[in-house]
Amino acid sequence: MHSLAHPTAAPELLPGAVWLVGAGPGDPGLLTLHAVRAIRAADVVLYDALINTEILAEARPDARLVCVGRRKGNAPTAQDEIVRLMIEHARQGARVVRLKGGDPCMFGRGGEEAAALRDAHIPFRIVPGVTAGIGGLAYAGIAATHRDANAAVTFLTGHQTGGALPGDLDWDALARNDNALVVYMGVSALDRIVPELLAHGRDASTPVAIVAQATTPSQRVVTTTLGEAIFAARRAKIETPALIVIGRIADPALATPWFEPQQDERAARITDRSLLAAFTA
Ligand code: SAH
Repeated sequence: MHSLAHPTAAPELLPGAVWLVGAGPGDPGLLTLHAVRAIRAADVVLYDALINTEILAEARPDARLVCVGRRKGNAPTAQDEIVRLMIEHARQGARVVRLKGGDPCMFGRGGEEAAALRDAHIPFRIVPGVTAGIGGLAYAGIAATHRDANAAVTFLTGHQTGGALPGDLDWDALARNDNALVVYMGVSALDRIVPELLAHGRDASTPVAIVAQATTPSQRVVTTTLGEAIFAARRAKIETPALIVIGRIADPALATPWFEPQQDERAARITDRSLLAAFTA
């Protein structure tokens, strides 16, 4: 693995530092080399509920692994408590990894946490990850941009702090043209998102894909249309996490599905830890 990285491009997680690390959408093979090295070096890993816990097997046996996300009905650790923990461990001289699903800065508060570390004069690094809205789509055979479909793609969240739809979304702009929308945290807000788009003029026949548990052995893709999406999601009993893709990129005619773990026993091995070991040996 070291041979893959240029010597000067292989930074080291040092005592007293915090790295904000993206873990990707689930498949451990989508971790970056920086991410794997940091997890292996860490004294403390503060991880979100969304990450694939197989990844934690890469941590040292004596590392402290702390779940700060919502787990089995437990309330998630408050954001200021997470920041406090990062800073406290770093000040005690620990090598700290703050591990987040996907990319730390895509609906992941990576920007806020980096600012808090800067303000506390803690050395930090941001290790980008494969965000679900791109990598998860790829595992559904959906290209985030397709020459025949869209010249722009908008990532939006269906869920603000408190659970409401963000108030500052410009539904006119989102509905107006053929651009693709990729909605994070959107399943429970689908019954508000769909009527807004229809009311602002988006065509009911617009293709929609719902990509659930992308890149994992439980991945499911439901293709439907904007007019049918609420019903289709209910009927399919979509399990989160899931992305909602709206626009021509979601048209099955443009998609090239290749990862179908439910049908393909071999693909289920993709999260086998030995695979990660093979990647990084
Ligand atoms: N920082 C993460 C996103 C965190 S917000 C990233 O860059 O991917 C959480 C939302 O991400 C979920 O509600 C879902 O919409 C999406 N998501 C994350 N992992 C996913 C996965 N494996 N499959 C489908 N959606 C996923």
